[in-house]
Amino acid sequence: MRGDLDKERRYLVPVSRLDRAGQPDVVVHLAVYEWLSMYQEWVTGPALCGYSAQQGPLEAGTVATCQACLEWKPRYERMLAPGYRPEDDDPEVLRRRLGEAENERDRLRAESEDQRKAKQTAAGAADRFRDALCEVLGYPDDNPGDDVLVAKLREHFGKTGPEATAWRDRMAGYEAVRDQISAAAREKGAGE
Ligand SMILES: [Zn+2]
Repeated sequence: MRGDLDKERRYLVPVSRLDRAGQPDVVVHLAVYEWLSMYQEWVTGPALCGYSAQQGPLEAGTVATCQACLEWKPRYERMLAPGYRPEDDDPEVLRRRLGEAENERDRLRAESEDQRKAKQTAAGAADRFRDALCEVLGYPDDNPGDDVLVAKLREHFGKTGPEATAWRDRMAGYEAVRDQISAAAREKGAGE
């Protein structure tokens, strides 16, 4: 087992109780197992519950029976995991992160509500113009579609030649800008 261990890390292992008076009536505690470079040796510390324990881990897979050790276990597992940062257990830091996440969520909600309203307004205005066009061009009850309406309208005003496409170019321009912004945001996110 020791050959697989990373000397830079610490591990949680089962350890045996001390056969001594005054020890709790359990058989297996949990302890931190770490490499002490000063002694060039792997050693187990005291049990998580605070009692002493016999030196050296029990066979891997031995189940801890000390309730107090088991209650500490999740916290130690978090602390011993690679990449653990002490502030992950700091309630102040966690509260601040939660606050930031909530602000961001509220901001996104407000933004999406604004966009929903803007779309609704635009859709309402477009519907109104279509209805007015349908009425004046002789389709009071059924909308023949934008292509027919536009053709009829241009015909009515004697417009010939290709239809103006500035609106389509503007849409393409807006979309290009939006894609640029999200690509920059993705790059920034990946760089952090
Ligand atoms: Zn214990």
